[in-house]
Amino acid sequence: MLKIAYHPIYNHPLPQGHRFPMIKYELLPQQLIYEGTCTSDNFFEPCLPNDKYLVAVHDPVYYYDLLNLKIPYKEARKIGFPLSEQLVERERIIADGTMKACEFSLKKGIAMNIAGGTHHAFSSRGEAFCMLNDQAIGARYLQSKKLADQILIIDLDVHQGNGTAEIFKDDPSVFTFSMHGANNYPFKKESSDLDIALKKGTTDLEYLSVLKDALTNLFREVRPEFVFYLCGVDILETDKLGTLSLSLEGCKKRDELVLERCLQYQIPVQCSMGGGYSSDIKKIVEAHANTFRLAQQMYF
Ligand SMILES: [Zn+2]
Repeated sequence: MLKIAYHPIYNHPLPQGHRFPMIKYELLPQQLIYEGTCTSDNFFEPCLPNDKYLVAVHDPVYYYDLLNLKIPYKEARKIGFPLSEQLVERERIIADGTMKACEFSLKKGIAMNIAGGTHHAFSSRGEAFCMLNDQAIGARYLQSKKLADQILIIDLDVHQGNGTAEIFKDDPSVFTFSMHGANNYPFKKESSDLDIALKKGTTDLEYLSVLKDALTNLFREVRPEFVFYLCGVDILETDKLGTLSLSLEGCKKRDELVLERCLQYQIPVQCSMGGGYSSDIKKIVEAHANTFRLAQQMYF
């Protein structure tokens, strides 16, 4: 059975006027249950993880400053969320969701988190709505438990996975791949092991052909034992922040290409949702729902 991490805190209310679309974290599971893609049995509730897994990735000074809400004002502003105990708790619970999803992926081939993809979190600072890097934490968790050694992170959110790239820059056991909009945030990009920056307005055909080739090489050369997939849907043409121009169908095809490879090579994969900022919330939910629909169709 497909296992999906979800906790009510994922949809934490933000102060009035804040435009981050938190509501999608609640609408998506509702949609999946409503249409019959999932039942409540597919979902599990993560909880607060042991701090040791979080400081295996993040600088303890930064981590405990975050916990004690003592991040300096200038740095806190870069995160973009008003720092609160609940938001930090939310971030820790999301990381737990990803670690537990990793365990389910090892058993079932795939598992997901209805949140996460917090790839702008660096080892010692947060940025752009990201405080703790859930998939980096998942990768270190698997390695510390000796459940996987060679890991591949496939980050297809429209924004570069700059935090992830920094965390693993000197670590050959975790290969970081980011395909993103060249003109998108972050404007000063880090170096992943493989970066593909796509020009403004890139459409389905070009996107999918570049991705297909990249995946062929990566699976052959990296020989991962475990894959993390960051399936942000801010690559859609309708996205307010993204500079790429994929259709809903193209975005679904992208997910299919990644999952197909994982299946073909029998590599377990954990998926975290990442961004999605189309003005129409239905578009965001539909694009994310496609990833979950595909997982059900292809694996179960
Ligand atoms: Zn994004």
